[in-house]
Amino acid sequence: MANLSNFPLLRTRAFINGNWCDADSAATFPVTNPANGDLIASVADVGVAETRRAIAVAAQAQPLWAQKTAKERSNILRRWFDLVLQHQDELAQILTIEQGKPLAEAIGEIAYGAAYIEWFAEEAKRVYGDVIPSASPDQRIIVIKQPVGVVAAITPWNFPCAMLARKLAPALAAGCAVVAKPASETPLSALALAALAQEAGIPAGVINILPGKDSAAIGGELTSNPIVRKLSFTGSTAVGKQLIQQCANDVKRITLELGGNAPFVVFDDADLDTAVTGAIASKFRNAGQTCVCANRFYIHRSIYKQFSEKLIAAMKQLSVGNGVDSGITIGPLISKNAVEKVQALVADALEGGARIGYQAELNKAINGQGHFYPPTLLLDVPRNAKLNQQEIFGPVAGLVVFDTDEEVIGLINNSEFGLASYCYTASAKRIKLLSEAIESGMLGINTGLISNEMAPFGGIKQSGWGREGSHYGIDDYVNIKYICEGF
Ligand code: NAP
Repeated sequence: MANLSNFPLLRTRAFINGNWCDADSAATFPVTNPANGDLIASVADVGVAETRRAIAVAAQAQPLWAQKTAKERSNILRRWFDLVLQHQDELAQILTIEQGKPLAEAIGEIAYGAAYIEWFAEEAKRVYGDVIPSASPDQRIIVIKQPVGVVAAITPWNFPCAMLARKLAPALAAGCAVVAKPASETPLSALALAALAQEAGIPAGVINILPGKDSAAIGGELTSNPIVRKLSFTGSTAVGKQLIQQCANDVKRITLELGGNAPFVVFDDADLDTAVTGAIASKFRNAGQTCVCANRFYIHRSIYKQFSEKLIAAMKQLSVGNGVDSGITIGPLISKNAVEKVQALVADALEGGARIGYQAELNKAINGQGHFYPPTLLLDVPRNAKLNQQEIFGPVAGLVVFDTDEEVIGLINNSEFGLASYCYTASAKRIKLLSEAIESGMLGINTGLISNEMAPFGGIKQSGWGREGSHYGIDDYVNIKYICEGF
């Protein structure tokens, strides 16, 4: 068990109506460190009854929160942002021990999550309506925006702080209250964020956090309870599809940030060093466990050999180990299942004719402990390999060769996903072509890092609905009301 005194923000109970609560059944579940299997904490395992209670208190708290002026809500959110940054190191340590990412990345995730709170503290004051010219001199057309009400949020384990912050911040800015269920692998970052929200003065009931193992039961209540007017979900496409069906009964509003299968394309005129830097950032961040990770690499035939040699040289600099240790750039995967999934995808590609271009050796000190997979480069991956069709969610890059623009655009768009894409080229004409032709919600041109609070993050096709961040991000949390005034 972690020494809790090192982490004053570490909470192990549910957060409902401003109180830290055990599960009604007193049940708990273990949260373990993926780097070594150590038990970090036993956390309250809540179920349907606690979820129903949290929804009821959120419904009481929401109208009072919405009645505050936008400036008052903004000031409180701003205090929360300040507190998150003041506690950045401790939050990052909690994140690393429960999720596995290297400490430097965890520090970055806390700043990234906090940036959404800062951004929406500002946007809270800019939820403008409209006065629209009317067709009649006896009428005035007015549009106002109102909070949707009680929001349910379900978040994944790969960014346990940022994915929650980017739902809570716009929801609260708009005047909504939230009942959130973090992934059961990583509930501690969410609970720590809530502790700081309380300290910042966010009133009881406006944020509620429900840790629990029975996600289907908690999700069932969140999606069937008529008080909840909106669901914001980040996670797998399979679970997203189930939740759409569950929300259909009440016609709840839904934001979905689902899986991706990002293509990473290097054209013959690209700056190869820039492309390699982008590939390392995009592919290996969080050990390859991000929804926008480069998942399929299409490399022009004329630079294929040169690019692969440069990429191997850069991959040799990656250092695998426990994320709390200094110099580590690749932590463990989240679970044993995750390692087995990556092993199966690599085996399938090799059976199809791919070759191993490079595979790091795991340090003996970590081998056998924790859920590690070595950074791996596969060459000549068949186009139809599962590696190119499914989210790898591991530190494996597989290269595919291509010859023409038309061919590679066809390959890129031949996917049911459409989250992020990355292209490297020096040609302005080609950039225009790609910008218009590529079917994805986000496109990085000559860069492998595209996510920030100012930009609209989200996908098309089976990668989801709605956008998080940017001035568009608050739209998902407000209803538009049109008022026709007659005179
Ligand atoms: P997941 O299995 O879909 O889980 C996501 C969340 O849903 C967790 O909190 C999980 O809880 C919960 N959940 C699982 N089954 C549920 C059910 N039947 N009803 C209600 N909730 C349920 O996904 P994951 O493996 O944690 O996360 C990785 C996925 O998220 C990847 O596909 C990744 O691409 C995607 N993702 C997308 C974005 C984006 O912005 N597009 C960002 C990050 C991640 P438990 O874990 O407790 O079961």
